[in-house]
Amino acid sequence: MKDRTARRFAGLQRSATVALLDLVQTMRAEGLPVLDLGGGEPDFDTAEHIAAEAADAVRAGFTHYTPSRGLPELRTAIAEKLARDNGIEVDPRTEIIVTPSAKHALFISLLAILDPLDEIIVPTPSWVSYTSMAHLAGAVTVQAELSPDNGFRLTRELLERHVSPRTKAILVNSPNNPTGRTLSREEAEAVAAVAIEHDLFIVADEIYELIRYDGHEHISLASLPGCAERTLTVNGFSKGYAMTGWRLGWVSGPAEVIAQVLKAQEHTVGCSGSFVQRGGVAALTGPQEHVQEMVEEYSARRKLIVDGLNSLPGVTCSTPEGAFYAFADIRGTGFGSSAEFSEWMLREAGVALTPGSAFGPGGEGHVRLAFANSRTVIEEAIGKMAAALASR
Ligand code: PMP
Ligand code: GLU
Repeated sequence: MKDRTARRFAGLQRSATVALLDLVQTMRAEGLPVLDLGGGEPDFDTAEHIAAEAADAVRAGFTHYTPSRGLPELRTAIAEKLARDNGIEVDPRTEIIVTPSAKHALFISLLAILDPLDEIIVPTPSWVSYTSMAHLAGAVTVQAELSPDNGFRLTRELLERHVSPRTKAILVNSPNNPTGRTLSREEAEAVAAVAIEHDLFIVADEIYELIRYDGHEHISLASLPGCAERTLTVNGFSKGYAMTGWRLGWVSGPAEVIAQVLKAQEHTVGCSGSFVQRGGVAALTGPQEHVQEMVEEYSARRKLIVDGLNSLPGVTCSTPEGAFYAFADIRGTGFGSSAEFSEWMLREAGVALTPGSAFGPGGEGHVRLAFANSRTVIEEAIGKMAAALASR
């Protein structure tokens, strides 16, 4: 057997966030108590009416392949949702693919639009997987570093500075992991203007759409003038509906691009799980109060964690506008790096958090704490962090 795996994997790291989720599970299995503010995953279970629909479907023998684009009734429900909530008009027959996770939607979308050595601009700090997905497609991520000192605001000038003749796409994620920012109208219009000016694709990751606070607006890039024909919108069920383990998402966009993305879906996974998709229909067409209840609970936890973090010596934290992450500035604590801070907190306080450096340029000097955890866990974690810092 040849002893060398593919060269494209040589520079590739494991996902820092998934690795942390794994580490915490392993530590717990070994009996070590860990307060997990690391991995971003709702602690809520999926709502009963969604679970019941999928369970009934399995029992009724709904256990076969579905059309590769997804169940027609799910695509219809998604198209109705996009028209109602997002100002996006798509034909459910040709402009939507239901995917096993938003992650897969992103990966096959990037595969479909990026040629080797093409560049994709990603404002950072950003979620850990975009760069690796682009790399697997043979493309190059150009990281446009945002500054914590102006609240990670995205400007047209910053994007323009990173455009080159090789630029093919801009990727935006709002509400944002890890910063907790939502794109303002002005920022969204800046992305649209640059994309139109340079004829670029936009990949809009809207997975945290449903988790927003204080009336912050959600702006879908595809709804802005001149953007529908160049935007791939990715969304999914993991976060808003607490369905991480189901692996269900979708991508929508222009028919001719979706036709190419579909080939990647057909040659890799074929289709999403049949009964899982039935759960997706129940999620989108059933009662939505449970989503609002979860968001209200996240909002209360957000206050708890932000106030707690701001009470720690040398730590400051601004209030997230969406998603369930507090991105705390630890530059005043005297630690050499966010990785050092995180390792120390896991060892000394038994609290898992994610170093900001994992999220690329602009992330160092920060740590990400997921508040998709009970108030008790958050209070205990803040208490342990405070005690550890006091005894340092
Ligand atoms: N985008 C972002 C920004 C995320 O944080 C996640 C979380 N895993 C995803 C996409 C993917 O979500 P999933 O694959 O669970 O649908
Ligand atoms: N998206 C979550 C996070 O950022 C889950 C892990 C992952 O898929 O990256 O922690």
